[in-house]
Amino acid sequence: MIGLIVGGAALLLVIVGIMAKRSAAPASQRVCGGCRRVMLPVWTKCLFCGWAPGARLEFILGPMANQTLQLTDDVPGDGNYELADLGSTNGVYVNGHKVPKKTLEPGDIIRVGNTEAVFKRD
Ligand SMILES: [Zn+2]
Repeated sequence: MIGLIVGGAALLLVIVGIMAKRSAAPASQRVCGGCRRVMLPVWTKCLFCGWAPGARLEFILGPMANQTLQLTDDVPGDGNYELADLGSTNGVYVNGHKVPKKTLEPGDIIRVGNTEAVFKRD
């Protein structure tokens, strides 16, 4: 689908049409990252202060090195982020393995072309 790589970063952003995926993760006690109050499992964000759990990509290699991409759009409380290769030329690698699709875990290293980023969660 993508024939021309104009820069790893741009491609990564396309691929990382990362998608907050609702999941049935077991409910565990969560503490608000803003006001530190306990959040109920059903809350997608803190009802006290509005803080919402987020995730981010920290770029370590490539044209966007040292930049951070916040992934905060519509993040469900216990949702996971799923990385999907939407048809890239050279594939997407996570922790050195080529993957068509992967649910990201903190610390995962994503590589697309010459761009590498680390997935982190709050
Ligand atoms: Zn709060």
